[in-house]
Formats: sequence, C-alpha cells, structure tokens
Amino acid sequence: MCIFCQIISKEVESEIVFENDDIIAFKDLYPKAKHHLLIVPKKHIDTIKDLNENEADEELVGKMVLVARNLAKDLELEGYQLLFNVGKSAGQVIFHIHLHLMSNG
Ligand code: AMP
Ligand code: ZN
Repeated sequence: MCIFCQIISKEVESEIVFENDDIIAFKDLYPKAKHHLLIVPKKHIDTIKDLNENEADEELVGKMVLVARNLAKDLELEGYQLLFNVGKSAGQVIFHIHLHLMSNG
C-alpha cells in the first residue's frame, strides 16, 4: 500500500486538516512554504496521466481544487500556488495523485 493510502487508512500518522468521503488534506511533512498542504483523493490513482475521461474523475479533480480553495480561504491566504507534479522527471515522488497548496501568506 502506498504511503498516502496508509495515511488515508490511518496506519501512518499525519496532521490532517480536512477529510470527507472522497478527499483528505494534510500538512506536508517537509514543507516548502510557510503553508504547505497536500490535497489527496481517497481513491488511489498513480498520476494525473491515469485519470479517466469520465464524470467520476472529472468530479474528483474538481472537488480537489475546491477543497484547496476552501482551505486557502480558511487560512486567509491572499495568494497561493496549486501544483500537480506529474511523472518522475517533473519531481513526482509519491505515485498517488496529490495537489500541493503552497503559500507564504
Ligand atoms: P511530490 O514530489 O509531488 O510527489 O510530492 C510528495 C510530497 O509528499 C512532498 O512534498 C513530501 O514532502 C510529502 N511527503 C512525503 N511523505 C509524507 C508524509 N508521510 N506525510 C506528509 N507529507 C509527506
Ligand atoms: Zn495510494
């Protein structure tokens, strides 16, 4: 089981900031900004490349972006970056889709 699936199943600890039936969000263990959260679907999908052209996956990715937007709003962030690393050469280390939310204020 991948590390993010282990976080989802609570076998591995993390600082969870949001959770619903489809999505979990937690603090990045090695933050690269003052605020660095990861928004992760509970369904294991390796990368953005593996998304299906169907309503379920469209909805899932849309929900991830809205969770990120809501967390940024809760944190009163003025500006922030939303980032998907896709593939090893782009810096993807964990092969379970995740959206980085990063901000220095
Ligand atoms: P990526 O390079 O896009 O695959 O991003 C993986 C991110 O996961 C990195 O920013 C890591 O710091 C973060 N990370 C790795 N292990 C953990 C963990 N156990 N809990 C929280 N974040 C983690
Ligand atoms: Zn996984």
